[in-house]
Order: sequence, then structure tokens, then C-alpha cells
Amino acid sequence: MRSMFHGPFSATKPVKLAFICGILFVMATLSVRATGDSVSKIAEDPLCAQALDWLGKNTDWVTAQQIRLTEIPASENNETARGQYLKQLLEANGLTVHVDDTGDVIGERPGSDPSGVILVAAHLDTVFPPGTDVHVKRAGTRLTAPGISDNGAGLAAIAGVSRALAESRIRTVKTIVFAGDVGEEGEGNLRGIRALVEHYGSRLAAVIAVDGPSTEHITTQGIASRRFEITVTGPGGHSWSDFGAPNPITALSRAIVRFSAIRIPDNPRSSFNFGVIDGGTSVNSIPAKASVKVDLRSEDSAQLNRMETALREAIQTGVRDEMAASRTFASENSLQVTFRSLGMRPAGALPENSPLLHTIRDVDRYLGNRSRLERSSTDANVPLSLGIPAIALGGGGRGGGSHTLGEWYDPSGRELGLKRLFLTVVALAGIQP
Ligand SMILES: [Zn+2]
Repeated sequence: MRSMFHGPFSATKPVKLAFICGILFVMATLSVRATGDSVSKIAEDPLCAQALDWLGKNTDWVTAQQIRLTEIPASENNETARGQYLKQLLEANGLTVHVDDTGDVIGERPGSDPSGVILVAAHLDTVFPPGTDVHVKRAGTRLTAPGISDNGAGLAAIAGVSRALAESRIRTVKTIVFAGDVGEEGEGNLRGIRALVEHYGSRLAAVIAVDGPSTEHITTQGIASRRFEITVTGPGGHSWSDFGAPNPITALSRAIVRFSAIRIPDNPRSSFNFGVIDGGTSVNSIPAKASVKVDLRSEDSAQLNRMETALREAIQTGVRDEMAASRTFASENSLQVTFRSLGMRPAGALPENSPLLHTIRDVDRYLGNRSRLERSSTDANVPLSLGIPAIALGGGGRGGGSHTLGEWYDPSGRELGLKRLFLTVVALAGIQP
């Protein structure tokens, strides 16, 4: 930048630049103040005040919907029944609802300007396999069930906010779309949100992913991830008579130990997880096949590349070591490896000066909510990777034990999250005069 001041225009450019910078500064200040004003103005609008009042008084209704939704199992690729219940809820709130080819439930609330869309999406799916007991248990104010927070809290929030809009009959400028999307967890590879973003395309003014309960963060950066299934096959055999043949489970174990010894940096923050391991048929058979599923993540794509390379090397070395240790050297006894991609989540970041970020910060200021910016891997990754303004927020209340059978949720104070989402959506959509 400094070199710009040299050369034939060195006398005029600094002046021009200072002038332009001055204008930009004033514009930035004005636009920030304008959104700031509009949040308190929105909250004071009689219809909005009525909606906020409804949210404050009806948190029990929202919690009841969360329990209903959570008790409908929604494992990977089995989101239809839960989606149907959400469809009923959104229809009861006056939205025009349809289910797309991917399985996303999409409720539209048309604005006066159809060229702008605010998409509010909560994922329907859970990480829990079919057959998991999803009955909600109560102890005091605490609710316990797999999926109660992730993403019962997000789904309940869109049910509550769309109901508050219906109760108050607010008319907005931009169209608001509430969606329950499929394929966020596990191997879904974000296919639900991908379909939504593709469908609305350039009409998307902002995307809000509502995931989990916490109101203490604003997710503005999407962490890149890569997921693989690695399969090792071999000759198999009898545990006694074929002893010494290479064993796919032992080969994978060598590889996992090897990769796990690699130093993973704190900065850029990165992680790995061997999440599922499979293989073998009986205790006295040398397995003919074993596989492992692994998830790699990093804030930095170069680091993610290095981790993938290291993973491939560790697997090759593990297999080589197992073959070297085996007592049978015939070529038909060798091990084979296949790598299968289970999904790649693209990275992306919301710029610091984004109007969307100004809006949510103004809402937090108005509500007296303290929040910090966060990086995570959510539905927001997809729009962020395409340069579409997006954030992920929690739906309100408190929770923990996500992705475990002990997952819990406490609705105490959930109206803060509901009002936060409501004000953000309405501020972004704009009220019709
Ligand atoms: Zn989630």
C-alpha cells in the first residue's frame, strides 16, 4: 500500500485517498448507526413488540415442540418423519411449505421484494443410529435425550420465531425462508444446505444456521473438514492353521497408532478423529477386511492437506509393516488399501465489516447479550465458502453432552435466544412501511 504514494501522482493521491477514506469512514459509521437504530426501532414497532412479548410468554410451547421433534428419530438418511412434523408446524404458522428432492422442509414467508431472501436453517438429522432411545427424560428443568440440543434447540427456535411472526402479522421487505435441512451430521456432507443454497442462489441476502442452544457465540468462520473411509482387505484365514497371514485389523491398528503420534498444531487449530472401526467375522478367523472412518479438520487448508498426506502415509506404512511382519510372503497374500472420500466441507469466513455481523452485534448490544466470534463446522460453511453472508447461532437455553447418549438441554432463559434470532431475522428482512 505504501508504494502507492510514490510516482507522478504522489502529490494528489494521498489527498484523494484521505478524502475517500473519510467518506468511507462516515458511510461505515452511518450504516452501523443505521442498523443500530433499526434494531431498537424494530423492537419498538408495535407488531414486533407484540411478537417479542409472545416469545417471552410462550417458551413452554417452544419447549413442548422441541420435545416432540426430539422424540421423532432422525438418523442419517431418515429425516422424513421429523421433517413432516416440522412441516405441520410451519404450515400452522401460515408459511407455504414444501419438501424438496433432497428432503429439506422449506417454509416461505414472502416479502414485498422477492429478489431478497433471508434463509434461516436448522438441521433435522442427528448422529444417532436407528433404534437409539430418544425419549426425553425430565429431572427438574433439565431434559435429557440424544439430539435434544443438537439440533432440537435449533429446530424449536425456528418453530418459535416463525410462530411469533405469524402471531404479530409483521410484513417484511425481504422473503424469510425457514428450513429444516437434511444431511448435516455424519456422512451427509451438508447435502441439504447445499441444495438450499443452490436453489435460492443469488437471491440469498443472508443465511443463518441455527445449531444447538448457546447464545454466547456467533460462528463467522467455517472450519474445513475431510472425511474418509479406509478399507484394508487381505486373504483372511483360520486363526491357527493360517497364522502368520497379514491381518487387516492389525494393519489398520498400526496405521492408527502411527498417525495418532503426529503432532497436531494448536494454531492453526486442527483435529482428527477415528470415529468408526469395523471388520472381522469371528474371534478365530483372520479377517479378510477391516475399515475405519476418520474425520480431519483444520482452520487452515494447507494444514488440512498436510494431515491428509500424513494419514495416507501412515496407512501405507501400517500396511507395509504388517506385511513385513507376516510369515507368508506369497503375493496373493498381500493386503490392499482403498481410500473413499465421505465428504469435504469447504472453509469460508464472514468479513469483519459484513452488515450481517453488524446486525447481530447490534442485536446483542440491544439485548445485553455478550457473545464472541467463533469458528466451527456447520451448515454455514456452504454459503460462506461461496461468499454469501452467513453465520451460525444457537437457539437459546443451555445444553451439553452433544453427540453422546447423555445429551441434555435446559430451557431456562431460552427467550433470550429466541428474541435474538427474531430481531436478527427481522432487522435483516426489514419491516414494510
Ligand atoms: Zn448440529
